Amino acid sequence: MMKTTLIFCGLFLSNLLFGQSSWSDSVSVGFLLGQTNYEKNALFIQVPSNRSTKTCYLLKEVNSAFDSMAVAAQKAGISLKVVSGGRNFEMQKAIWERKWKSRRPNFKSDKETALDILKYSSMPGTSRHHWGTDLDINSVDPAYFSSGKGKLEYEWLKKNAASFGFCQTYDNKAESKRTGYSEEKWHYTYMPISHKLLKQYNEKITNELIIGFLGSSTAKEIDVVKFYVNGISSLCD
Ligand SMILES: [Zn+2]
Repeated sequence: MMKTTLIFCGLFLSNLLFGQSSWSDSVSVGFLLGQTNYEKNALFIQVPSNRSTKTCYLLKEVNSAFDSMAVAAQKAGISLKVVSGGRNFEMQKAIWERKWKSRRPNFKSDKETALDILKYSSMPGTSRHHWGTDLDINSVDPAYFSSGKGKLEYEWLKKNAASFGFCQTYDNKAESKRTGYSEEKWHYTYMPISHKLLKQYNEKITNELIIGFLGSSTAKEIDVVKFYVNGISSLCD
């Protein structure tokens, strides 16, 4: 009996010391693929209206970290707002299929169509926005960040985001030699959680599980898990 109690205490202590008791150490396949109802999931919170441009949800920890970063930015005269946060499978499917229907006639094959959409948009089931760890800040227009206010905001984020746990997921492809999406100066990830989720994604998800939308048969031939889900900045891993 004594021995059992000791083993139990030891396990409890090691869980505590190595942080294995966090929910993010073991999530379901459904969660990784974006089958989440953010309004009903207690891990999520609606981003307050002063920190967002529309109704959106993030993981509570991510929302808190973003709030701290926005407060610090404000002191430097920089305004940071979430323009997109958690997007579940259904929301991503709506975006993907809208683009699929309008672009498919312009291409010879399904694969070419998918690769064109994949410059900026994820296939449903493969987006980091599913997890509530990733968010778009201030604009999703590349031109916005190349001059004036947008340029100043980007420079502030480049210098300061890491100290709040955030990093630019899709950085300059030529410089970082990563694969996948084009550079997105607006898309940031909260690394303390997302690096754990990517690890589990790679353990549990294969291209065969990327199904349920127009053009999904291209996931395997493109190897979307290897080249897109894992096509992230080395600083974010
Ligand atoms: Zn994004």
